[in-house]
Amino acid sequence: MKKRIMYLDGKFVTEEKAVVPVTAHALHYGTGVFEGIRAYYSQKDKALYVFRLEDHFKRFLDSCKILCIDLGLSAEELSQLTIELIKKNFSETDMYIRPLAFKSDPAVGNFNLKTLKDSLAIYTVAMGRMIEKNGINATISSWTRVSDNSIPPRAKITGAYANTSLAKTESIAGGYDEALLMDNRGHVVEGSAENVFLVKNGVVITPPVSDDILVGITRDTMMRLISDQLHLPLVERSIDRSEVYQADELFLVGTGAEVTPVIKVDGRNIGDG
Ligand code: PMP
Repeated sequence: MKKRIMYLDGKFVTEEKAVVPVTAHALHYGTGVFEGIRAYYSQKDKALYVFRLEDHFKRFLDSCKILCIDLGLSAEELSQLTIELIKKNFSETDMYIRPLAFKSDPAVGNFNLKTLKDSLAIYTVAMGRMIEKNGINATISSWTRVSDNSIPPRAKITGAYANTSLAKTESIAGGYDEALLMDNRGHVVEGSAENVFLVKNGVVITPPVSDDILVGITRDTMMRLISDQLHLPLVERSIDRSEVYQADELFLVGTGAEVTPVIKVDGRNIGDG
């Protein structure tokens, strides 16, 4: 079998060489940022189409800014690098692309982000649909979403995904497929790794970017489709927990989840289920 090629700190290497030492700061303290990007294989064209590649790297660089990571590469250069990597790993399947920028210096005792060495890794993995069901059963999590003043959700920071993992684990243990998280003001802001949309009386509602959310690329595409193609009224505003229970429709969007309908929340049918 062909060996997977990965990018690490300026070099394309085989998978077994794309390793970091156990002393790496990011491994101990969550000081990394990442992206998740999809490429779809077209049987007809025999080609892979990457979904909004440069937009993902613009967000990646914005995330880097929060953690004082300086890669010295533009979104365009990162995109070109990724295309090179995709070509090296090409197969006739859908693909998931994972860029990761992180503090790679030894961990102990140093929390000054500006003094720590930055590393960059990018790898690809063959991946189809993550959520197969035509509708999922969700619960409002007892875990609160991290906030802008603790670990900014606007940046895709690795350490913040401990929060995601706690919520997701709890939801599965409770027999649900997915968690909906509230911020510290009690507004429903996101799924575990998805943005949320609600429909009530023909109006589509989604939380604003100032509501402790990741500013999703799929969210943006969805908003454009809703406004420009479907011509439906769309409002960005905070969502109360009780509004979720009373929604006519509810759906989660994200690179992994794509567009996933939620048909039940905490035992209550959404619309007619
Ligand atoms: N919120 C969180 C917390 C996420 O991890 C993701 C997945 N990246 C999203 C929203 C959706 O963002 P996107 O559409 O850019 O994948």
